[in-house]
Amino acid sequence: MIAEIITIGDELLIGQVIDTNSSFIAKQLNKIGVSIYQITSVQDEKSHILQALSDAEHRVDIVIITGGLGPTKDDITKKTIAEYFNDSLVRDDSVLQNIETIWKQHVRTTLLQVNKDQALIPSKSKPLMNRLGTAPGMWIEKAEKVFISLPGVPYEMKALIDYEVIPKLTDKYHCPFILHRTLMVYGLGESALAERIEAWEDALPEHIKLAYLPNLGQMRLRLSTKGFDEQKLKREVQEQIDKVLPYIKDEFAGFEDEEGSVEMVIAKQLTKIGKTLAIAESCTGGAVAERFTVHSGASAYFKGGVVTYSTQSKINVLQVPKSLIDQYSVVSAQVAEAMAKNALDLFQSDYAIATTGNAGPTKGDSDADVGTVFIAIATKTQVYSQEFNFGNLRLKVINKAVNKALEMLLK
Ligand code: ATP
Ligand code: MG
Repeated sequence: MIAEIITIGDELLIGQVIDTNSSFIAKQLNKIGVSIYQITSVQDEKSHILQALSDAEHRVDIVIITGGLGPTKDDITKKTIAEYFNDSLVRDDSVLQNIETIWKQHVRTTLLQVNKDQALIPSKSKPLMNRLGTAPGMWIEKAEKVFISLPGVPYEMKALIDYEVIPKLTDKYHCPFILHRTLMVYGLGESALAERIEAWEDALPEHIKLAYLPNLGQMRLRLSTKGFDEQKLKREVQEQIDKVLPYIKDEFAGFEDEEGSVEMVIAKQLTKIGKTLAIAESCTGGAVAERFTVHSGASAYFKGGVVTYSTQSKINVLQVPKSLIDQYSVVSAQVAEAMAKNALDLFQSDYAIATTGNAGPTKGDSDADVGTVFIAIATKTQVYSQEFNFGNLRLKVINKAVNKALEMLLK
């Protein structure tokens, strides 16, 4: 089965809102064996929507549309869909009831006519009940093809995909199973990794596809396959994983599908051994700490962190000796190590990590070259640091420093 996704909204085409709906839908459809042929974003503009619908209908079995279902005049998807199917809008009582329920729960004023009108749907469509908002989803079949229209609001769209669309699609089509497994690999660039695993890659069976996904010093290696025998696919992919792991035993960090991210691998290890972490940041401005604290359960191992951005704050907050800074520069191995050691003491943690560097674009507080970053790790008995140069683009330097800090902690 093949699908297309059409996201509708002027905001997407002026770059005000990033189209995250498509990536969510693609991921969920992939899980049930539906491949995505194309993703298109169009304006809230009748002729553009009609054209996108007709193009998609000729190419695929399933067309999923999001956005433009709101009550306001700029949202024209529903009328346009009705026109596309030579249909008219009729009131659906179950949708009206749902709108009234939501209105009572959340708004508590008299229901507005424009919201009542949201219960109008094309007569050829079946409503997909949106329990989180007033815009209903719609399911329309034409010959063997299915058109699904969903609200643009991401959390409403997600609930409709998971609880309405996916069950209905799996009922209707006998879909193959698609399997992706993604290995997180640390400390190897794309080319170095490719060279390392070349022999294994060349011997991969035809039906297992390999993709390299590099991102600022982190690599992800994705194995994908599809077929009808789920257990067999899982066995085959596992065999390949067992074969590749010996090539990357020092660099393999875990599976994205299970752990989610490298910081989650670290979090799991720390929680398991009952050890704690503290962080002292300068050039990364709290970004290392944030990578941990966005995940629930961080309080089990994360004691705290400081952002000592100025030289004076490194002296005042972290008690880094002024003489050390004068002697070696604020961007130096010695200062990074002192920051890590003192953060360990300050927060009474088992591990501490520190970053100090010059992210640019100008030299700032030190005379270190732009892109120079020192990262230090301290334990109760040891401290060590490494020097890096991450180039001259500020955000790239910061993000690479964050990834490198996580990598060092992992090891
Ligand atoms: P509503 O009933 O809220 O008006 P709607 O179907 O009309 O629903 P839109 O008005 O198109 O939805 O979009 C609502 C909000 O959802 C927008 O403000 C936008 O931020 C967000 N949104 C819309 N489309 C997308 C998308 N493809 N990816 C991410 N966010 C989106
Ligand atoms: Mg809109």
